[in-house]
Amino acid sequence: MKDLSSISPIIDNIGPFNEVPQEYNSQDSYNSLLNSKILIIGSGGLGCEILKNLSLTGFKNIHIIDMDTIDLSNLNRQFLFRSEDIGKSKSEIAVKFIKNILDDDTTLEIVPHFKKIQDMDLEFYKQFQLVISGLDSIEARRWINSILFNLAESENLIIPLIDGGTEGFRGQSRVIIPTFTSCFECSLDLLNVKTTYPVCTIANTPRLPEHCIEWAHQLEWTRQFPNTKFDADDPDQVDWMFNTALKRSKEFGIEGVTKSLTLGVVKNIIPAIASTNAIIAASCCNEAFKYITSTNPMLNNYMMYSGDDSIFTYTYSYTKKTNCSVCGNIAKNIVVQNWWTLQQFIHEIKSKQDIQLINPSLTTSSKLLYMSSPQELQISTKSNLSKKMRDLVSVGEEIVITDLNLPISLKFIIQFEGSYEDPEFS
Ligand SMILES: [Zn+2]
Repeated sequence: MKDLSSISPIIDNIGPFNEVPQEYNSQDSYNSLLNSKILIIGSGGLGCEILKNLSLTGFKNIHIIDMDTIDLSNLNRQFLFRSEDIGKSKSEIAVKFIKNILDDDTTLEIVPHFKKIQDMDLEFYKQFQLVISGLDSIEARRWINSILFNLAESENLIIPLIDGGTEGFRGQSRVIIPTFTSCFECSLDLLNVKTTYPVCTIANTPRLPEHCIEWAHQLEWTRQFPNTKFDADDPDQVDWMFNTALKRSKEFGIEGVTKSLTLGVVKNIIPAIASTNAIIAASCCNEAFKYITSTNPMLNNYMMYSGDDSIFTYTYSYTKKTNCSVCGNIAKNIVVQNWWTLQQFIHEIKSKQDIQLINPSLTTSSKLLYMSSPQELQISTKSNLSKKMRDLVSVGEEIVITDLNLPISLKFIIQFEGSYEDPEFS
């Protein structure tokens, strides 16, 4: 076994801010470190850093899960991968790399899972003391957040989630202790959401360069190549997209369609910077170390880091929201315009920052408003889409919204306002 001399000064001397120094026992801390089982979600820019940090720190049993394969564009920052690894599983290659450099440590057990997190059952998650996520997907983070919250509620099993995220020179790390602290869902409205544009604007009344690009991307591509999925990594296809959007923008006298904007819109690019990943991963691993060894108190509970204007970081305690769909206990209020159809309402909630659903189904206590699946229910409820919300739901009625992609249901209390006729047409 590798010796732990590099961390023994920290474990042998309890930190000054520890709340219960009399209960601290350094031997217990060593044991916890050596016996803990940790799950890393994501094996990309953050995940590679986290895996390297944990295994060099003295954690001995680490699982890492990622459904992705390695792409050429990953190699500048996902430093456990080499060009000969392109196309292979990220988690498997990351584990192989770490095992190679630490091959003298026979006590180190790291296990890759080339899977989606949604494919693993509850028993899988229950074996870990801690989950660290380094993901760029909001959906996956919402999913693991609600799974861990449900485990805390139904089985009294508290598995903290340490969540890291980066975007360019900015990042954040946070500690989520299910049922005790605020959860990921509580702060959904802090995140940047991909801007979406109404299809009617894209099709008929474009005003922005982005509208022209989305027209080429969403409408013209399918018309011209109905059987081909657009590939944003194919330079010829990107050229086609750019030229088609440019032609459209000239027809409408819109300026600003460039190739880089085209790429930004179709790929929804979030730039990734290796040093930001390193800083955020380090913070996540510090929290993991403190939690497992009890040497020092954990981050309470949200750390923002900004490196784009000099360097700036601050920590604050993000509070629970009483109307959080996961950890809260009251329904959200939502104001519906009297002229909205169900279709319009669905469009509005999909784009709302604190909701962000992809394929919602809506029910009230007495009826199905719209079901996105299964197909028979979708067919039998889709006639409601053109009906006005005012005629489907009464004031103060509760609507429950579910989404196949999320193991949660959102509750809304409906209030109405405004005119019954669409103001644009009256
Ligand atoms: Zn919450």
